Amino acid sequence: MVRPVDYACHGEIVFVLVLNAGSSSLKFNLFDMAKETSIAEGMAERIGLADGSLTFVFESDKHKEVLPLPTHREALHAIIERLKAVVLHDTPIHAVGHRVVHGGPKYGDSLIVTDEVLADIDTFAMYAPLHNPANAMGIRVAREEFPDVPHVAVFDTAFHHNIPDHARTYGIPYELSQKYGIRRYGFHGSSHSYVAARTAILLCRPLRALKIVTCHIGNGTSICAVHNGRSVDTSMGMTPLQGVIMGTRCGTIDPSVVEMLMEYEHLDYNGITDLLNKKSGLLGISGVSSDFREIELAADAGNDRARLARDLLTYNVRQYIGAYATVLDGVDAICFTAGIGTHSTFVRAKVCSKLSFLGVKLDPEANEHGTGERIISTPDSRVVVTVVPTNEELMIARETVR
Ligand code: ADP
Repeated sequence: MVRPVDYACHGEIVFVLVLNAGSSSLKFNLFDMAKETSIAEGMAERIGLADGSLTFVFESDKHKEVLPLPTHREALHAIIERLKAVVLHDTPIHAVGHRVVHGGPKYGDSLIVTDEVLADIDTFAMYAPLHNPANAMGIRVAREEFPDVPHVAVFDTAFHHNIPDHARTYGIPYELSQKYGIRRYGFHGSSHSYVAARTAILLCRPLRALKIVTCHIGNGTSICAVHNGRSVDTSMGMTPLQGVIMGTRCGTIDPSVVEMLMEYEHLDYNGITDLLNKKSGLLGISGVSSDFREIELAADAGNDRARLARDLLTYNVRQYIGAYATVLDGVDAICFTAGIGTHSTFVRAKVCSKLSFLGVKLDPEANEHGTGERIISTPDSRVVVTVVPTNEELMIARETVR
């Protein structure tokens, strides 16, 4: 691993800007790490389109403006201008933390970005073509803008770096796996590690003595088996396409479906990638939306395809919990997080309804009511069920300081 020596931290790292660059969006969050609080946050959206927008939240005031944001460079400039106007005039930025989706076979830990690291992030776009190029672009623009501070790459894959060979090897010729680094990597690492640690705190037990299944259910969904604080298996694979069905991603399918669709629908590489990543999942099955709130409304109104999409999501999550109960040889806790996991009482109830064989007893009152971090199982439930809103940005800021 590359450990560059050109940044020596002489002072304390207090003010950390966290950036999460997507293909057409740039999320930011400025943290005061002395208190671990967010000072300002927001998001530039629709970058590259005529009607870009910038949302800026400062001291609970939310402003949204529509403005042209031709590239990520203009978006970051606009963000920095707003930050300077309200916060930055007397707040220096000590470091910038970047979410990077894929660290490839090489990076199992966060690290300071050098030219070599940036080149590797470009190379690992072979595993995450929809994410790494945007992440690298965000880093390039931010390094130009803040040339004198360390930039830290925090990889989604890092938490899963040490899952055992038998859990990450695909059944293809071994030489090809080795040649191309084809294997399970896993994603949402910052989220799984954060919510597992918070679950241990809710249980008042040490993380290093717990078996937890963490369920990150949002636009992207992944389930993780966490043993003694370490990921030992996870549902996403070499790319974030594998596993549970998601908003627009297909999840696990028979690879022969890919060949068949390419042949009969005359799809090339880009066509099939687009279909499986952007037109499938909840959207593709329901024909309604990728947004789960709209799926729930349509399903409740009697739309059969929306019901099917909703049922498939909860069924997939249950399948993984069952599988990981075996992987972990028992479960102490199940944690729900991300947009759907945190907010959908229906999904949690449906997933837990067929886990009685594990000794899961959901408390319907606690599931329906209450907000924030909490336990939603009954006191006599053998497995504790928790809800923990995730905080990936804080994890990235922590990693940046570390
Ligand atoms: P991302 O993966 O983009 O970070 P999120 O974790 O924010 O996504 O999750 C977005 C999903 O959460 C959307 O499908 C959205 O409909 C769903 N969601 C948000 N709030 C609710 C809610 N109150 N009830 C059900 N689903 C919700």
